[in-house]
Amino acid sequence: MVKVRADTDVCVFSGMCVLNVPEVFDQRDDGMVEVLAEEPPEGLAERVRLAVLGCPSGALSVEED
Ligand code: SF4
Repeated sequence: MVKVRADTDVCVFSGMCVLNVPEVFDQRDDGMVEVLAEEPPEGLAERVRLAVLGCPSGALSVEED
């Protein structure tokens, strides 16, 4: 099980996470990241990890249980 966190003080609105895993990430009207599923299904875990690595600002993190 992974738990997703997004630091809204750090997000630079690139939208990369939304492109990579739209099931888990969205952007508000102002561009700020929004986590749709804080505990995504196991089948999405690898893509979520890649989205964390691909976030240009380091705003995303995952906790692994
Ligand atoms: S990839 Fe990172 S910087 Fe870009 S919208 Fe998502 S959280 Fe924000």
